[in-house]
Amino acid sequence: MNITRAIINLSALQHNLQVLKKQAPNSKILAIIKANAYGHGMIKIAQNLTGIYGLGVARLNEALVLRDANIKTPIVLLEGFFAQENLPLLVKHDLQTVIHSKQQVIDLLEAKLEKPLKIWLKLDVGMHRLGFHPHEFQKTYQRLERCKNVQKPINLICHFNCADELDNPITEKQTQLFKEQIQERSGLHSLASSAATLAWPTSHADIIRPGIALYGISPFADKEAQDFSLLPVMTLKSRLIAVREHKKGDAVGYGAQWTSTQDTKLGVVAIGYGDGYPRMAPEGTPILINGRILPLVGRVSMDMLTVDLGINCTDKVGDDVTLWGDGLSATLVAKYIGTISYELVTKLTSRVELQYI
Ligand SMILES: *Cc1c(COP(=O)(O)O)cnc(C)c1O
Repeated sequence: MNITRAIINLSALQHNLQVLKKQAPNSKILAIIKANAYGHGMIKIAQNLTGIYGLGVARLNEALVLRDANIKTPIVLLEGFFAQENLPLLVKHDLQTVIHSKQQVIDLLEAKLEKPLKIWLKLDVGMHRLGFHPHEFQKTYQRLERCKNVQKPINLICHFNCADELDNPITEKQTQLFKEQIQERSGLHSLASSAATLAWPTSHADIIRPGIALYGISPFADKEAQDFSLLPVMTLKSRLIAVREHKKGDAVGYGAQWTSTQDTKLGVVAIGYGDGYPRMAPEGTPILINGRILPLVGRVSMDMLTVDLGINCTDKVGDDVTLWGDGLSATLVAKYIGTISYELVTKLTSRVELQYI
């Protein structure tokens, strides 16, 4: 009924999980499903991920939604908790937490908890966003070792800032730094998200943390998912709701931004920025219709966009249109728009129906 929909292919999800397992055969998987599983529907994706170490989300509210849906899988809060009064909720719902700041350490030391928490102490290896600088890491570790609210052994984590740059040696250096700092400490060690899982095998360690690759999208701007045998999980679709004769010299859309240099036919597609298709998409952004890649023309509006179908087209009202996914990668579309695939998939709005196959 809803013609503007994201088809979510759960067998592609399984396939990608297997690809990642093969890529890092000695590691377990913390599947990252924050931000509504990158727009794919967090609960449904969580229910379909089995044989993994656990699920990773950014925030406590995401974890509580999962527990409310009766999902019993271990959950790690990647940003940790934000206030001491949240700690009993972490205990109650059996949530593991990253510890990345001095305030969190103070809160943990002071709290009175019914059970100790499983924690992931974060080393800052160069992102300089969250985590402990190497010079404060050892001391922090020792304080937490003595803390009765912390389960032992402490798990250790870091996050790379340039792992998607294949010719940048910094990721190897950061891996080295992590290994030096953690020494032979027991507990689980986790360094790699999707890019490092695919490109930097020395960083695999105990647990890999793939997000985007699980959804069949390349973490690299200049490599395609198929280079790694990953299959797109989401295909964003709508339909042609009008096919119009269009005269040379006529403009289309708000602001008359684009004018045709020849007689043609234009297709009007029922999707716009109200669905999360970016308004910034420029003329020429690729759109897949009946097996042809065709250019977006004119401004994207809230509910519609227009495509130059060409004078000889046989496309008709009701025909399927693919904005990204199967046959047209989100990576390529993102490149035209000047963003990354991550932003495209996470920004779909609730008007887009998620249909699972
Ligand atoms: C989001 C996130 C990931 C997953 O990153 P991808 O590039 O999508 O694989 C892994 N680890 C942390 C800490 C994250 O915040």
